Amino acid sequence: MTTFAELGLAPDILRALDDMGYVTPTPIQEQVIPLALQGGDILGAAQTGTGKTAAFALPLLQRLLPFANSGTSPAKHPIRALILTPTRELAIQVEESVKAYCKHIPLRSLVVYGGVSINTQIPILKTGVEILVATPGRLLDHVQNKTLMLNQVNTLVLDEADRMLDMGFMPDLKRIVALLPAQRVNMMFSATFPEEIRKLADSILNNPTFIEVARNATAVTVTQVVHPVHHERKRALLTHLIKTRDLKQVLVFTGTKLGCNRLANELNKLGLHADAIHGDKTQQERIKALDAFKAGSLRVLVATDVAARGIDIEALPFVVNYDLPHNAEDYVHRIGRTGRAGVKGEAISLVSESETRYLKDIEKLIGTPLEPTIVPGFEPGVADVPAYATRPQRTERPAERLIEHPVDRPAARPVEQGVAPALERSAPRAQRPASRDALFDSPYVPSAAPAAAPAANRQPSRKPVAALFRSPVKPESSEQ
Ligand code: AMP
Repeated sequence: MTTFAELGLAPDILRALDDMGYVTPTPIQEQVIPLALQGGDILGAAQTGTGKTAAFALPLLQRLLPFANSGTSPAKHPIRALILTPTRELAIQVEESVKAYCKHIPLRSLVVYGGVSINTQIPILKTGVEILVATPGRLLDHVQNKTLMLNQVNTLVLDEADRMLDMGFMPDLKRIVALLPAQRVNMMFSATFPEEIRKLADSILNNPTFIEVARNATAVTVTQVVHPVHHERKRALLTHLIKTRDLKQVLVFTGTKLGCNRLANELNKLGLHADAIHGDKTQQERIKALDAFKAGSLRVLVATDVAARGIDIEALPFVVNYDLPHNAEDYVHRIGRTGRAGVKGEAISLVSESETRYLKDIEKLIGTPLEPTIVPGFEPGVADVPAYATRPQRTERPAERLIEHPVDRPAARPVEQGVAPALERSAPRAQRPASRDALFDSPYVPSAAPAAAPAANRQPSRKPVAALFRSPVKPESSEQ
C-alpha cells in the first residue's frame, strides 16, 4: 500500500496529514499527487468524497514551499494559487482543508465568496495571502475594486467545474483566466464530463493528463435505497423513516426553494427539528443551519442542490432524495454527501410515479439498476393513509365527526387501483381522519405507527418501479 511519504510529499505536509488522521492516500490522491508535484496539468474526473481536495491541494502547497515565509510585508505574500469553486459552501470547505494541510508551513490562505460584506475580506487581502479560494463572482468584484492582484498566480484549480458551468459561471471564468499569467499549472476537477466541460478543459488546460477515478460511479460505501411512494405520501414516509429508524442526522434534498422551506416547516410542526438552506437564504442563515447540523443539534437539514454543494460532514450517515433530481448527474453529487472517505452511508430516494423517468436516467448514468423497496403502509399508487393509522380506536375523533368533514383526498386514486387490502379490511373510509395532516397532528400517531420495518420486511421488489404504481402491490407485511 502506497504511503503519502512515498508519493513524495514534504515532511511538514506529512505532519499535517498525520495530525488529521490521514493514513493512506485515496486512489485519486495516489494518481494526482505525483503528477501534480511535477507541475503537469491535470484533468480529474472525480466525484466529491473521493479526497480530491487533498489531491490538488497537497502538491499545490508543496510547490509553494520555496515561497513560504513569515515576513510581515504584504509584498512577500502575493496570491500564488487560485482555487475556484462554484459555491460558498465548497469554497469554505476547501479553504478549511488547505489551512489544515499547511498548519506547519508559513503559507497564508483566505476564502472569498459573495453574500457577505466585501469589506471584511479586503483588510485580510491587503496583508497578503498565497492561496486564495474563491467563488468566481466575488473574485471579480475584488478585481474590479482593485483589492487583489492575480499577476503572480502560478497555479489555477477549478473545482467542480461541471457545477460552475451549470450555474452560469462560464463568462466569469473566461474573464478570470484572461487575468492570469500564461505560465501556470492548471488542474480541473469535475464529477461529470458533458461536451461543454471538455471544451472548457481544452481552452484552459495545457496538454493535461486525464485522471479518472470512479467516473460517474457512486461511492461504493453508499448503500442506495429506492422507496416508490405516492407523491402525496412522501412527507409521511419521510417522517415515518426518520422516526421509526431513529435517523439522527439526515440531509434531505428537494427540487425547489419553495418545497425546501415548506418541508422544513412541516417537519418542524411534526416535532422533527429541521431547517432549510437554499439560494434565497443569507450566508449567515446557511452557515448557522449547517453548523447546527454538523454539531448534531439539528436533526434534518433540507437543502436544494446548489446550497448543499460543498457540504462536507464527517460520517454523514443519511441522505434522502425527497425529490429526485431531474438531472441524473445531480444524483451522483447528492449521494456523494454521504459515504465519504470510506465511511458507510445510505442514500434513500423517495420516488413518485412521475419521477420514474428520472430514476431511469440515474440508473443509466450509474450503470446499475436500483431495486425498489416498498415500505409497508406506503405502497406506491396508494395516496391514502396507511391501514395501521386508520383503525377506529386509534383516532380521537368520533366517526360521526369525521363523516361531517369531507375526506380530503383530492388526488387520491381509487383504492382498488393501488390496492391496500388491509386498508379496506381494517377501516371503512368514513372512519379515516379528515386529512392525512390530521393523522400527523394527532398525538396518537407516533405510537400507532408500526415499529421500524426491519430490513427484511422492506423487501426489494423485482418489478420496474413504474410498474409498481400501476399494479396491485401486496407487501407481505403491510399489516403489522
Ligand atoms: P473531498 O472529496 O476532498 O471533499 O474529501 C472528502 C473527505 O475525505 C474530507 O472530509 C477529507 O478530509 C477526507 N479525506 C481526504 N483524503 C483522505 C485520506 N487520505 N484519508 C482520510 N480521509 C481523507
